Amino acid sequence: MERGLLIVISGASGTGKGTVCKKILADLPKISYSISATTRKPRQGEVDGREYYFLSVDEFKQWIADEKFLEYAEVYGNFYGTPLNKIEEQLNRGEDVLLEIDVQGALNVKKKCPDGVYIFLLPPSLEELRRRIEGRGSETPESLNRRLKNAVAEIQIGREYDYAVVNDTIENAAAQIKSILAAERCKVARNTDKFNF
Ligand code: 5GP
Repeated sequence: MERGLLIVISGASGTGKGTVCKKILADLPKISYSISATTRKPRQGEVDGREYYFLSVDEFKQWIADEKFLEYAEVYGNFYGTPLNKIEEQLNRGEDVLLEIDVQGALNVKKKCPDGVYIFLLPPSLEELRRRIEGRGSETPESLNRRLKNAVAEIQIGREYDYAVVNDTIENAAAQIKSILAAERCKVARNTDKFNF
């Protein structure tokens, strides 16, 4: 049984990670999305247990104490974390697991899981990024500026990843990610058993 790929995708706020990840999840067989826990309030249309597990700060701290997270980080004043349960099980079953997490969390996972696939999604330009965040309509001017400033800093951390994908269109970005995953599956290190002739 081939082990699944641990796929970590990050990108600055408004890069369109969510949409690209949805397309990857829809297009690929045997892949599952790791639902994170967060202390941020649900946005309109978000459902507990689907987009996130929405926890209180006390509940989140209890999960930390119980060592339930692969990683967690504070992002824009809220806590976000990747629950450990299920991930190992899914990978061993040969399923890919997709984590859409911030740069701090991703670098922590990279230390623990160096055989993961680390993909950084870039916006085509800063102007386009601003337009996309504004278009979402869920930001106050203050939080928009905070997110943009953070975006520039986050993008620099993207240099630590394995792959850079520009999200000009969802189709292009998703196609590139699928090519990356296809190449990763062919790496010699992942196929040593096939050399036993
Ligand atoms: P949002 O509040 O817009 O859904 O997410 C804000 C940021 O938190 C995004 O960069 C997203 O990738 C990140 N994030 C979501 N889940 C996790 C997680 O489990 N761990 C970490 N470290 N970051 C996360």
